Amino acid sequence: MIKILYSADPVDWVEYELNLHKALDQIELDYQISTTYNTPEEIDYIIYAPDGTVQDFNAFTNLKLVQNLWAGVEVPTANKTLTQPLARMVEPGLTLGMADYVMGHVLRHHLGTDKFSNARPGEWLGDNIPALAQDRMVGVLGLGELGLYCAQKIADFGFQTCGWSRTQKTKDINIECYNGTKGLDSILAKSDILVLLLPNTPETNHIIDADNIAKMRDGVAIINPGRGTLINDTALLNALNSGKVASATLDVFQTEPLPADHLYWTHSNVLVTPHIASSTRINTACNVIAENIRRGENNEPFLYLVDKSVGY
Ligand code: NDP
Repeated sequence: MIKILYSADPVDWVEYELNLHKALDQIELDYQISTTYNTPEEIDYIIYAPDGTVQDFNAFTNLKLVQNLWAGVEVPTANKTLTQPLARMVEPGLTLGMADYVMGHVLRHHLGTDKFSNARPGEWLGDNIPALAQDRMVGVLGLGELGLYCAQKIADFGFQTCGWSRTQKTKDINIECYNGTKGLDSILAKSDILVLLLPNTPETNHIIDADNIAKMRDGVAIINPGRGTLINDTALLNALNSGKVASATLDVFQTEPLPADHLYWTHSNVLVTPHIASSTRINTACNVIAENIRRGENNEPFLYLVDKSVGY
């Protein structure tokens, strides 16, 4: 009997229970799933989110996998008691949701619609014809599961598209792919719209700082659905005030919820969204969880394992 423990947001349990049974029943394994445990050494798999009950993994001595329900893994990777394999969440609903958010806000910045939303009655801004997408460069920092899919959508729409990752990508001929410091400099220098889809790691902390903002095009727009830690907020606010950065759409922040007195809330060129860019969709996520459990039981490699040495 495989023993699975759900240790995540209790509010979601009813929906997870229903969909996990549906997905697990299809792979015909003898399993038991619960939200509580008496004998941690008997648990095989933990379905985990940082807001669940399990914070100390030491007693789970026979655990095969911790399956994170979130794409971001900064909390479990910082947990010193978690020495077992850890998988992050990659699932179609999360990816499609992020593409919708990114595409929507890329188009908003591209078309300059905020200008018209903010126009006074009678203010006829008729000389603001947007450029063509094919004449606009969109840079995507982070070409992982989410970043690469979004970059492909952006390129498919017709924008010039470039992207940056830790390791060099080659397979996507319609996206200019870069890595390393020089690669980052190239992207910063050429992007009209910059999308941040990097994870929160020591290397990406405050990657958008005063030095890197100085390398950007004047009037660049920044969209950040990645993590709040990617941005030095003081540097971004200074750049927004000077006009170096024309506008920013920010979904994630160093402190969430974003405090009511934060200057982002009232800055006329900042749109704050409350960490809603995307989310794990329970029905599609459960298929991925069941597949990883099937793999574990068949001694096949797990999907989407986190490399703790690099932090994502
Ligand atoms: P992945 O792990 O699949 O991709 C991360 C990407 O970042 C990879 O391309 C990786 O490079 C690149 N990267 C990591 N470190 C560096 C570095 N030091 N220098 C350059 N590139 C780097 O993550 P996902 O695409 O699944 O998710 C990205 C992030 O999106 C998550 O970590 C999370 O923070 C955020 N997120 C936000 C949500 C929201 O609602 N706002 C929802 C879901 C996720 P390489 O390809 O070489 O490994």
